[in-house]
Amino acid sequence: MRLKSIKLAGFKSFVDPTTVPFKSNMSAIVGPNGCGKSNVIDAVRWVMGESSAKYLRGESMTDVIFNGSRGRKPVGQASIELVFDNTAGKLGGAYAQYAEIAVKRQVTREGQSNYFLNGTKCRRRDITDLFLGTGLGPRSYAIIEQGMIARLIEAKPEELRVYLEEAAGISKYKERRRETENR
Ligand code: ATP
Ligand code: MG
Repeated sequence: MRLKSIKLAGFKSFVDPTTVPFKSNMSAIVGPNGCGKSNVIDAVRWVMGESSAKYLRGESMTDVIFNGSRGRKPVGQASIELVFDNTAGKLGGAYAQYAEIAVKRQVTREGQSNYFLNGTKCRRRDITDLFLGTGLGPRSYAIIEQGMIARLIEAKPEELRVYLEEAAGISKYKERRRETENR
């Protein structure tokens, strides 16, 4: 599974539709302070279902929508799409057969959030399920940001265990059990 590209529109500083292709296994995004590097990472987490504004460096969930700049008016909605190469079938369930998987999220100023899998509207659950156990996800160890190393070192045993369970691939079974018990 490999991230092939990310399409941003109306998200934080990316007001105009922008596609960032990742052509090889290693890519770097470089640029001056404040140019939007971290916004790209926020975008990746947001699509995968992050529901805490704090983790996206904002105060409310609609803070991800471009809120205007000198000479540009705010826009009404934000959307991000991630396109994954899934030729190895790592992204599973009903979608394992697809060589390419597109995951998209949109949000409007009214706070209406929509998710899409390969163009079909779906629930947030379907997106989080897709990534459970793959090591990828809004809070996963696949994204190591500023301050996270320190957080890991200082983590309580039960917090550390969450990362280990995801790495071991058992978090998805625990999630299923939790759901069954709650029914
Ligand atoms: P650094 O090198 O300092 O870490 P960076 O490249 O990671 O910088 P970001 O934090 O990604 O920079 O981008 C910050 C910029 O994004 C700021 O200029 C901020 O005004 C802009 N920005 C954030 N949210 C929005 C929004 N909702 N609308 C418009 N611009 C926004
Ligand atoms: Mg940054």
